[in-house]
Amino acid sequence: MSLFESIVQVFKNNPTPTAADVPEGVCPNCWGRNEYAGKFYEAMKNENVDINNINEKKGWVQDYADKHLSSIQLNHTDAETVCSKCKVTYKEA
Ligand SMILES: [Zn+2]
Repeated sequence: MSLFESIVQVFKNNPTPTAADVPEGVCPNCWGRNEYAGKFYEAMKNENVDINNINEKKGWVQDYADKHLSSIQLNHTDAETVCSKCKVTYKEA
């Protein structure tokens, strides 16, 4: 699943997501910090992105994600998943 698809999924599950709604593939540890979840959902709100127009806004969302969220995307290795930012390791389920 791409980061964009993960974000769409979050909005499908909760049209007004909070910091507790973590897109799949990003580090939950980093995500909870203000500079990520808080700013991201605030930026989405300012841009008037919602579940009804998120596909039309795909370019904007992807651009934002590339700029601000790529640093906290999880890296998968054979045995585990690691956040390159905080170095927290998640065991593969
Ligand atoms: Zn992290």
